[in-house]
Amino acid sequence: MFIYEDIVGTNEQGNMTIGGCDTVELAKKYGTPLYVMDENAIRKACRSFKHSIDNYYHGNGLVLFASKAFSCKEIYRIINEEECGVDVVSGGELYTALSVDFPAEKIVFHGNNKTADELRMALDNNVGRIIVDNMTELELLSKLAEQRQKTPKIMLRIKPGIDAHTHDFIKTGQIDSKFGFALETGEAFEAVKKSINYKNIEFTGIHCHIGSQIFDTAPFEAAADVMYSFAEMVKLELGFEIKEINLGGGFGIKYTGRDNPTDLDRYMSHVAKVLKQKSEQFGMYMPRIFIEPGRSIVGPAGLTLYTVGDVKTIPDIRTYVAVDGSMCDNPRYALYQAAYDVYIANKATQPRDFVATIAGRCCESGDLIQENTKIQTPEVGDIVAVLATGAYNYSMSSNYNRLPKPAVVFVKDGQSRIVVKRETYEDIIRNDI
Ligand SMILES: *Cc1c(COP(=O)(O)O)cnc(C)c1O
Repeated sequence: MFIYEDIVGTNEQGNMTIGGCDTVELAKKYGTPLYVMDENAIRKACRSFKHSIDNYYHGNGLVLFASKAFSCKEIYRIINEEECGVDVVSGGELYTALSVDFPAEKIVFHGNNKTADELRMALDNNVGRIIVDNMTELELLSKLAEQRQKTPKIMLRIKPGIDAHTHDFIKTGQIDSKFGFALETGEAFEAVKKSINYKNIEFTGIHCHIGSQIFDTAPFEAAADVMYSFAEMVKLELGFEIKEINLGGGFGIKYTGRDNPTDLDRYMSHVAKVLKQKSEQFGMYMPRIFIEPGRSIVGPAGLTLYTVGDVKTIPDIRTYVAVDGSMCDNPRYALYQAAYDVYIANKATQPRDFVATIAGRCCESGDLIQENTKIQTPEVGDIVAVLATGAYNYSMSSNYNRLPKPAVVFVKDGQSRIVVKRETYEDIIRNDI
């Protein structure tokens, strides 16, 4: 009945459950709006990726959780327990990871415009890899590293010429992206040459990330092919062996029944096959493989609970169901009309035959969680559950209209615990002078 049957279910009261907990009880206990995440689902996704990497590359690889999808102290603890690394994209994410003693050598630092302060922070904390985006950064990093007498390990972000931002993918020489070095102009090759020659930089490999919410294995296979071929070219022309290839994230998940993503292991096996073929063909070694799943690790694990404050029917037009959350806690519909499955948690076993628009409480007409979606017949006081909100919801949340951010609760085997406290009004004015 639900898109993730192993995460979400119902109980005898007809209420929706997650991780063995009654969502209506959770709403009562912790208040709404509330983010709830199933810890076992997060751990299971980590293990699935790790198992695939260990299996296909004989352990010579690393799963890095792309923490921009969901970042707080507890997730870094869990990812560390699951023996994965993390990718961070800012000083703030890096700070959070380091605050719970996440092993620095398993952190990779991304960003197309890292500040000098962020680079210093990465150097001072001996971050595992810095993924260099452009020549300016390469030169700055070299200078900063020299001043600090450090030799950071770096990877170069490459644009492999694969545009996978839609359900189909386009293979082009020229892609319009603010991220990384272009292959076809020779820019990437120049960056490699320069990186090899810097004394105070250890160039270990190349990175690409071709997009997000990708359902097909073909674009990943094409990217692996392009990246390996580039490594081969570097070896032939410069005699330098690229030791590591980071293939990024982007594995699609199911948001509604209309989505049809590939099984996680299938992505991994298809890409591994391409790399193995290439290495046999070129008689070259197999580099160490990194992947960076974000959405696919935390997305399915989460749901958001709201309380219905009003039901407003406009005859012959539509019915608005006003909830106590907003685009502040889930901006994805307002940003790109992202689809979600919506239920009334206290009527979870009843038929969803009512069409409603779920509206937030921000002063914006576009502040909608979902439009013309099927739910159970709504009444004031009902608990609304929006599924698959574990990724890019809490991490994208804001304080627009000075709304405090919701709490995050983790559930596991029928137990619940707060991992991020609900913001207070005091938190809202904390930095105001
Ligand atoms: C966003 C991002 C990811 C994660 O993408 P998902 O679609 O969440 O898997 C991985 N690597 C980089 C560099 C990214 O920017």
